[in-house]
Amino acid sequence: MSGGSVDFAILGAGVVGLTTALELRRRHPGCSVRVLEKEPAAGLHASGRNSGVLHAGFYYTADSLKARFCVEGSRRMREYCADRGLRVGKHGKLVVARTEADHAGLDELLRRGAANGVRLRAISEAEAREIEPRVRTAGRAIWSPDTATVDPAEVMAALAADCTRQGVELRTSEPVLAAGPGWVRTPAGRIDVGHIVNAAGLYADRIARGFGFAEGLEIIPFKGLYLYSDEPPSALRTSIYPVPDLRNPFLGVHFTVNVDGHAKIGPTAIPCFWREQYGWHERFRAGELAAVGAAVARLWLADSFGFRRLAAQEMRKYSRSVLVGQAAELATGVQVGQYRRFGRPGIRAQLLDRKRAQLIMDFRVEGDERSTHVLNAVSPAFTCSLAFADHVCDIVDRSA
Ligand SMILES: Cc1cc2nc3c(=O)[nH]c(=O)nc-3n(C[C@H](O)[C@H](O)[C@H](O)COP(=O)(O)OP(=O)(O)OC[C@H]3O[C@@H](n4cnc5c(N)ncnc54)[C@H](O)[C@@H]3O)c2cc1C
Repeated sequence: MSGGSVDFAILGAGVVGLTTALELRRRHPGCSVRVLEKEPAAGLHASGRNSGVLHAGFYYTADSLKARFCVEGSRRMREYCADRGLRVGKHGKLVVARTEADHAGLDELLRRGAANGVRLRAISEAEAREIEPRVRTAGRAIWSPDTATVDPAEVMAALAADCTRQGVELRTSEPVLAAGPGWVRTPAGRIDVGHIVNAAGLYADRIARGFGFAEGLEIIPFKGLYLYSDEPPSALRTSIYPVPDLRNPFLGVHFTVNVDGHAKIGPTAIPCFWREQYGWHERFRAGELAAVGAAVARLWLADSFGFRRLAAQEMRKYSRSVLVGQAAELATGVQVGQYRRFGRPGIRAQLLDRKRAQLIMDFRVEGDERSTHVLNAVSPAFTCSLAFADHVCDIVDRSA
């Protein structure tokens, strides 16, 4: 059975896959571009299940791809939303100090923000209270006026509609069963492909290995749970984040004000036992359990970047009272009774360097003249996507 031939095949209809497909189509209008997605619609994994924050770009060191694409990506995503009539919540964000020991962390974020060209203000505790009367902070804080929120599912639906309108062939419910240089196999048969872009999120490392890439690397899944507030919209005026532990890629328990003005707590970063473990039994795969278990065990033994402590702390966050208790360090008037509803979790496709037992912090792109593999498209890849897609397409074009 033959699935025909195409110039470009994109594996995965997340935000990376769709923005890359649109950009390839724009650059090569005479070429065929096909997106293959295993699910019945685009954006059913991380891209449709994230916090929806358009990050301003001050967490990342200036030499990183994250820093390079975050400011432009956020600006372009806001323009895209305005153009398509999608909602953008312009609530900004406060980064607070839980104790004075966090002041060094605030200074480091200010330094990174300045290096990355991000608009930030170092403010006093009193100024922070003017912005958000309920905020708790020890002495000072950072105000980021350009942090915004969107509804990621709305954005994904708009991108999918754009793909169809612009002649990208978006094939849903068509899983990639195997792939190698110049070909892809799906239930519809073998497809001959000029260039393959692997944007398969949680499975990107597996697919990359079929091409001889992602050597020594393994994706391990971390679950992000959200607890939703019953308080009315605008009960919190702005998102509130703690100073994160910059040794790992997670931002700690925080409040995000959604596009509709409601606040949510989360996301957690709880290690999963298999890749799409959204619920206790959902999408169980024994092979993955063994591989993820081995990777987590390696991290546990090495304990580089304080993994044991992180994992133990994160596992406790399945408890509503623990999660709310930690969030209550950031704002006053926060009670367990107001936070009764866990929302849809998302799972991060976090890349691990097996040999060094380290989580990879930056995006990673590997490839050659026949294929390009996007690995470690973790946060803020949603924010960066429109700018990052240009970078991926530059790599594809250079390789031709
Ligand atoms: C809890 C959480 C919160 C986050 N918050 C933010 C945030 O606030 N701001 C931000 O910028 N970023 C955030 N992120 C990160 C952001 O969501 C991701 O970086 C981004 O969505 C990655 O997009 P992607 O296209 O690489 O992956 P995905 O969205 O996972 O897409 C990959 C696609 O590939 C498909 N696929 C996999 N295997 C196959 C196969 N064999 N055949 C066909 N299709 C396949 C999958 O079904 C999926 O649709 C968050 C992530 C999580 C999990």
